[in-house]
Order: sequence, then C-alpha cells, then structure tokens
Amino acid sequence: MIENTFGMNIIPENDSERLVALNRYRIMDTPSEASFDNMAKLCTQIFSVPVSLVSLVDAERVFFKANAGMGNAREANRGKSLCALAVLHPEITVFEDALKEPCLIANPNVAGDFGLRFYAGAPLITHDGFLIGTLCIIDQQPRVFTEKESRILAGMATAVMDQIELRSSALEEIENHQVTNGLLSEQKEEMQAVNEELITTNEELISSNKELQTSQEQLISLNRQLADSEARFRNLIKQSPVAIAILQGREMRIDCANDVILRIWGKDDSVVGKNLAVALPEIKGQPFLDLLDEVYTSGKAYFGKEVMLSVVENGISKHMYVNFTYQPFEVEGITKDIMVVASDVTAQVEARIAVEDVNQRLQIAMDASKLGSTEVNLADGVMESTAQFKANYGYREDETFNYPDLFETMFPEHRERVRKLVQEAIATNTVYRAEYPVTWRDGSVHWISAHGRPRYDENGKVNRMVGMTADITESKLFEQRKDDFLSIASHELKTPVTSLKASLQLLDRIKHKPNSAMHIKLIEQSNRSMAKMSVLVDDLLNMNRMSEGQLKLKKTTFTLSEMLNLCCNHVRVEGRYELVISGDMDLRIYADEHRIDQVVVNFVNNAVKYAPDSMKIFLNIEKITGYAKISVRDEGPGIASHILPHLFDRYYRVNHEGQSYSGLGLGLYICSEIIKRHEGRIGVESELNHGSTFWFTIPVNEQQ
Ligand code: ADP
Repeated sequence: MIENTFGMNIIPENDSERLVALNRYRIMDTPSEASFDNMAKLCTQIFSVPVSLVSLVDAERVFFKANAGMGNAREANRGKSLCALAVLHPEITVFEDALKEPCLIANPNVAGDFGLRFYAGAPLITHDGFLIGTLCIIDQQPRVFTEKESRILAGMATAVMDQIELRSSALEEIENHQVTNGLLSEQKEEMQAVNEELITTNEELISSNKELQTSQEQLISLNRQLADSEARFRNLIKQSPVAIAILQGREMRIDCANDVILRIWGKDDSVVGKNLAVALPEIKGQPFLDLLDEVYTSGKAYFGKEVMLSVVENGISKHMYVNFTYQPFEVEGITKDIMVVASDVTAQVEARIAVEDVNQRLQIAMDASKLGSTEVNLADGVMESTAQFKANYGYREDETFNYPDLFETMFPEHRERVRKLVQEAIATNTVYRAEYPVTWRDGSVHWISAHGRPRYDENGKVNRMVGMTADITESKLFEQRKDDFLSIASHELKTPVTSLKASLQLLDRIKHKPNSAMHIKLIEQSNRSMAKMSVLVDDLLNMNRMSEGQLKLKKTTFTLSEMLNLCCNHVRVEGRYELVISGDMDLRIYADEHRIDQVVVNFVNNAVKYAPDSMKIFLNIEKITGYAKISVRDEGPGIASHILPHLFDRYYRVNHEGQSYSGLGLGLYICSEIIKRHEGRIGVESELNHGSTFWFTIPVNEQQ
C-alpha cells in the first residue's frame, strides 16, 4: 500500500493498463531531454510560476521527465504528488489555493517548507486514452487560473504528449533501424562471406584455368611426343630385323607390317590395311586367327613356340615353323591393337627334328642291340648311365653304379687290360674297344662289349669318358657254339671218314684177291661210315639251306597216321624199339610230307639216341582247335629244365659227360625251322627221369 496524503482514492480502476501504456513509452528514469526541459521552462515563463514539471505517474511514484524550478528532484511519492490527482480525470486539475482544498491540507508540499499554494496539471493523454502523467505548473502563491490559461496548458500538455509519442516512435524507428542495421550487417557479413567465397572460387577458377591451360599445353606436347614416338615406333617396326606387325581391332586389320613379316607371310605391302583373314585367306583352319581372337578378348599375351604356319606365296604353298608373340595393347581396359612379333625357326626345328629322328633311330638301334651308354666323371668316378647300361652289369636303374663298381664286376684278369686300353684312348684321344666277361651279383657270367671315347674340358684337359656297352653273352655263346660245332663237325666227320678211308685202303689192298668175308665186312663198314657221313652232310646241307632261306615247301594233303606208319622203317626193321601210334588216325593235314616226316624221324632218332633204354616210343596224333599236334614220347632219362629253352637253338648240344653221341646239335634247330615255315609251333615237355615228349603242331585247314 502506498502512502496517500489525500484522503481519497488516487488509483484509477484501469491503473494496471495505464501502467502498461506508460511503460510502452520507455521513458521512465531516462535522463532529462532538452525538448521536455524547454517545454517546462516555457510553461514557467508563460504562466509566470516558479515550477513546472513534466511528470509521469508510475505505480508508487511520480517521475519527473522535466523539472523546471524544483532543483534536482527527479521523482516524488505518488501519495504525496498532486500529479497523482491530476491523472484521475482528463480535465485539467486546478487548485487555485491549496490551503482551501481539504484533500491537500495534509500534503507535505502544501503543509511543508515548500509552501505550495497553486497547482494546475493538464494530464498527458495517450492516443489510446490512458492518462500517464501531467504537465503541471506550481506556485507558492495562490492565483486565479483562467479558462484561457487552462486551454493553453492543455494545449501544451498535448504538445508534450506528442513529444512523448514522437520520442517513442523515434525510439522504435531507431530500434527498427538497429534491427535493420543488424540484419543489414548480418547480410553484409553474409555478403562478405559470399564475396570471400566468390573471391576464393575465383582464385580457384583462375588457378584451375591455369592448370587447364598447362595441362592442355602438356597434352599438346604429349600429343606431339606421341605422334613423334608413334612415327619412331613405326620406323622401328619397319627397320626391325624381327618380323613385326600391328593388327587393329577384332577384325585384325593389318595396320603396319614390316618386310620381315611380309616375307614370312609370302606377301607384299599391299596387304597393309586389309583384315588378316582377307590378306592371308590360307591361314583359315590354322590356329592363328582363333588365338588372336582370344588375345583380343582376354587382353592376355600369347606365346607360340614352333608352330607350323602354312602360307601361299605366289600361288605356291609353303610351310614353316614360327615362334611368335601376340602382345595386346589396351586403351582404358579395352584391347585396341595386337602386336605380332614372329621369327621363322624352320631351319632350327627341321634340324632338331632331324636330330631327334637320328636320335630316335639311334635309340631304337641302341634298344634293339641292348646298347647302354654312360658318361664317367674321371675325377670322382661318378657315372651317369642309361638303364640298359646298368642292366648290362646286372644293376637296376635306380641303383648307384659308378666306375669302381664297373671294375668290380669285371673278371679280375681283365681289369688291368681294360684300364690300359682306357688310358691309351685318353692319351691318344681315340676310341677304345674291349670285350670282357663280368660276373653279376647273382653269379651269372655275361660278356660285355665296350667302347668309349675321352671328353675334354675347355682347357683341353680330359675330364670325362663317354662309353657304350652291349651285353654280347648271346653272341659270345653262339660264337663259342659255332667254334665248338666246327670242331665237333670235323671231329664227327673225321671218325667215319677215317673209318671209310681205312676200309677203302684195305679193300684196295685185296681188290685183286678173290672175294672173301673180309670184302663183305669192309664194304659194310664203308657203307656204315658213309651212312653216318651222309646224315652229317645232310644236316649240314639242310642247315645251310635254312640259313639261306632256300627251304622250299612242297605241300600236299596227306593223312598223318599213314605217314607215321611208314616213317622210321629203319627203327622198325632193327626191331629193338617199338613204335606205338595212337590218337586221331584220320586227321589229314596240308603240308610238306617229306619235311614233316624228317621232323618225326629226328624226334624218333633222338629218342633212340638219347633214351636208348626206352623200348617203347609213343607217337600220338591229336586235333586241338585248328591244329594237328604230333608228339613223340620216350621213357628215357629226361632233360634238365635249364637246358629245355636252348634245345632248339642252332649248334646246341648237351654235354653228356662221359658219353659220346654223334651229332652236330643241328637236328632240333632244323626241325624248328621246318615247323615255323608251316606256321606251327614246336616244343618239348620233359622232366629228369620222367622221359621226354617232343611235339609240334601244324595248322589244319578244315576244308581239306
Ligand atoms: P644232335 O643233332 O646233336 O642230336 P639235336 O638238336 O637233335 O642235336 O638235339 C640237341 C640235344 O637235345 C641233344 O644233344 C640231346 O642232348 C638232347 N635231346 C634230344 N632229344 C632227346 C631225348 N629224347 N632225350 C634226351 N635228350 C634229348
């Protein structure tokens, strides 16, 4: 509650709205302003009073916006200030003599030292009707306030109010300005920022322009360089000693081809600009076009080695071998060109093929003759040998076999001789040849034929020995058998010849004497010797015929059993042995009857000769699918299994210890040759002490 000296209500009903209206003007507590001060001063002069105030009535106080004549007072208590009364109604409030006003008696301004006697206050009325303050004049003397003076004061109050309104609008204006200014400055800042950006962008633009210019220049220079280098490249291709062509696009357009490749193609430079398939139609069906297409698709280079190329040159087709490269060139991941680099390797390939051919033949020859080869490192005796070489010494391919091992297998008595031969070959750079027997680890003896040649290093020092060996056991044995045969043949012939010679000499001595028992004995003796000799000579003749391929067959169809019945009469006549014939008695064959008879006779004779105690000799005929099989069985001593495989060999005779059998070791060999020519087979089954069965087969022609 505010202090109220007036003894009446001084707060109007709309005071709070009024205060809102007052505060709208934002004038309270503001410093004094000349326009209001002047108005107050003007009032004191017009109305000749000591005091004039522009007061604004707040909730509890009265603020003096202008004060003329009241010293420094800035405000007064609402309950004491007379202005509080002057804002209660719109008319001017006039107290011509305060002392006569009951409501002012207690007022300190009236009752106090100041001694207020006169007061006239015109309310300051806002445009919307609120009474916010007054323009008042005060005097310490009572006075009369005329109607005219009232109107003047009211007019001046209106002027003050206008001034307040004006001031307020000005304030707003200023504020608006400030806002606008603020906005403007913001915009300005933005503008500035934009401007700065623009500047930067501009700078960037300038710099990128410069860059563009530089790169354009670079591009131009690069293009120039490229053109230069392309020209150089083409020149290089043209002058290259290697065959080169550039093919463009999937259609393989010949963009560039040098003379070397044109020569390979067998074409002139009119093919440049054409597609490869058109320029060389003959390569259709050869691998090249497909390969190029693949390189084009995959972008991966292709290397061809020794590929056969057939082209047509002036209507004549030529074949050659080429090595070539297809190198794709890409632009942005897409193949544009393929560079073809080729070389004609026909000469090399043909030379190699020829060498391979020779090597192959050599290998065949080596394999056929069981030739093994080796290279000996003389420093350490390590040998690099072929499987056959090792086999010749009884070693497996995977076994280590070095120079010392080789000498170890050699018969000791041959070692020094072979060593000397090798040394000699090294000293004279010649080939050494040697034959020597070796003992394999299984104890078997083999003959080796060896020859070798020294090899020299770049300083001319011998460091290796290249050698070849063959297992010549077979031929050695054959030779041996042949030698044996010759001595046997001469020995075998010598006996009947000597005996015949003796008989004839004796006969010669008694030729003029009358016939006697002696004559008969000697003639018989001579005939026996002759018979033996003729058997031997027959064998020799047959042998000779065989080896010269002169054995002609005179084939006829005959019944086997009949042939067997008639053969070997000499045995039957002698009566010592019984020939037992069994089996298919009707079987007929188409063959050389005389030769087949010869085979059977040989078998029977052998049975008599080598199984003399077997009184029965069994002859059997049987038919086995497509073949007639004839076998001759005895119950003699049989033959050892290790001998069996050799029986039909030429000159092979079994060494019958102690006993001597005449024979050249040719009989069974001749038999086997006869049967072979009849496309039959020959064989023997025998076991020691269980007799032997010699057999042969002859094909039977069912139509016969
Ligand atoms: P040869 O003309 O010296 O009799 P063959 O070639 O006819 O020679 O016989 C070769 C060898 O076969 C003979 O030396 C003999 O040892 C052996 N042989 C042949 N037939 C028989 C047989 N029936 N029983 C035992 N050994 C035989």
